[in-house]
Amino acid sequence: MTGPRVLRINGALVEAGPVPGASLFELARVGDLGLLGEVVAVDGDVATIQVYEETTGLRVGGPVEMSGGSLTVELGPGLLGSVFDGIGRPLERLARSEGDFIQPGATAATLDADRRWRFTPAVAAGAEVGPGDLLGEVQEGALRHKVLLPPGQTGRVREIAAGEFSVHESFGRLEDGGPLRLAHRWPIRRPRPTGLRLPVAQPYLTGQRVFDFLFPVAEGGAVAVPGGFGTGKTVIEQALAKYGQSDIVIFVGCGERGNEMADVLREFSGLTDPATGRPIMEHTILVVNTSNMPVAAREASVYLGLTLAEFYRDMGYRVAVMVDSLSRWAEALREISGRLQEMPGEEGFPTYLASRLGGAYERAGRVEASGRPQRVGSVTLVSAVSPPGGDFSEPVTQASLRVAGALWALDAELAHQRQFPAVDWTTSYSLYGEETIAWFTRETGEDWGEIRQETLRLLESDSELREIAGLVGQDALQDEDRLALAAAAVVREAVLSQNAFDPNDAFSPIGKTYELARLAWRLLLAGREALRAGTPFEKLDLDAPRAALLALRDASEADRSGFIERATKAIEDLAGERSEA
Ligand code: ADP
Repeated sequence: MTGPRVLRINGALVEAGPVPGASLFELARVGDLGLLGEVVAVDGDVATIQVYEETTGLRVGGPVEMSGGSLTVELGPGLLGSVFDGIGRPLERLARSEGDFIQPGATAATLDADRRWRFTPAVAAGAEVGPGDLLGEVQEGALRHKVLLPPGQTGRVREIAAGEFSVHESFGRLEDGGPLRLAHRWPIRRPRPTGLRLPVAQPYLTGQRVFDFLFPVAEGGAVAVPGGFGTGKTVIEQALAKYGQSDIVIFVGCGERGNEMADVLREFSGLTDPATGRPIMEHTILVVNTSNMPVAAREASVYLGLTLAEFYRDMGYRVAVMVDSLSRWAEALREISGRLQEMPGEEGFPTYLASRLGGAYERAGRVEASGRPQRVGSVTLVSAVSPPGGDFSEPVTQASLRVAGALWALDAELAHQRQFPAVDWTTSYSLYGEETIAWFTRETGEDWGEIRQETLRLLESDSELREIAGLVGQDALQDEDRLALAAAAVVREAVLSQNAFDPNDAFSPIGKTYELARLAWRLLLAGREALRAGTPFEKLDLDAPRAALLALRDASEADRSGFIERATKAIEDLAGERSEA
């Protein structure tokens, strides 16, 4: 018997030996079926391998094959519209060859080797090229897929040709004989190299008012979305995937229930992008690792999603990555760490939880891509966190908070009142407010920043006032405060609430967001004016402007300007009530 063998099996962990020279995160094939796994610990010439597939039926003494490299994914045209599992196997093609139940050890190349692509060169023979330089383009649906010289390569082009090629055929050659191809492999745990990291400036528009207006995230930013069960995390992630303004969407379904992911799939395939009218799957990739798939592959699924994102970022695109949920990923780390009998940290999570998580968040960013011509691309990361019992003091939420630039905290009480998105505006924050304000001001109005500050202040005083009103009763409050309470209620209802299932309001263009926010603020100012002119609070007719704002919120795009006029009129009347008083 030659070669390494399985020595011990403990769930998803397999000890194998002898494997002299095995390295951490080296890829291995385990057992007669060749199950895919990664080395997570090495002790002498024994390696512990975390197996990404069901280990039932694996036997001690079975063969183990070390690959010599780490887990890589094949990058090239043909990724868009696909659904991959955590280790990059295309589920649809697997299902075609394997049936609905994928057998352990099944393999399928990430990219379809039979498909041919029309390649148009961007450089000629004789050109000196370096890593990231544009070699040519392939049209993939609506996307101009840029074919770049892979990281680490450099040389002079000896030959390059236009034509139809599969991902493995060469369309040209470098002087040293190295072939030029449409696809290359990249180790998923390693961030792809870039040029300069750039400061963030432009918002990643979500089409959700509470985020765009109060807690914006920048392109290249990272936001954590913690919320207990049923607070709307999945609805938010899906709304962003549908309506968020990015060129490419990578949706990582990590450890969620299989039927939920099936719903996502079904929904996504029927949706069109409101901006372009094209199917959203044309610019979307799904990575799914559902709760019934092996826990170990959850870890890989997040890295796979980030690697795919960086691949498009390098082409100069704006990529949004949604992870649902990072907690399930952390639980996988905990389970593996426990089996490795590592020293546990807080709540049993490994002590390296925060650094692993930080490493993943750091892959978000806005960068100048390496190579010529100059390209700027970004990866924006939105990760849902599901703290057990909705308790935000737990390690995964806390570790996320330290590295994310924005927090959208979801609140069970708000969800219970059916205030959706159930974003708790007292604990949520965004560090991107200052950086994005110039953009918003330019695109909406000079007063954007002021309205935002004033609205945040109003919401803050609202919480305090409601507490006081709860003690002494509304009537005991001063008129100014009663007005503030009423105005805050209008802001909550007409500006911050947004029904994800209302065809007119599921997506709020930034112009509509601005109008609603501006009019709600005007309502407060008009009310104050009337109070100052002597009208008592009871005499203020707040119902008319409130109703007009709600109608504007729910109006179709075609009717919007008419409703803006109506609301403006109702608010002017409010200010004018002093003359009637
Ligand atoms: P979570 O993923 O946090 O467990 P979900 O995203 O599944 O929660 O949301 C739970 C339910 O709350 C949804 O099924 C839906 O009925 C409601 N909901 C959440 N967000 C919205 C929204 N923006 N508009 C309308 N209903 C919502």
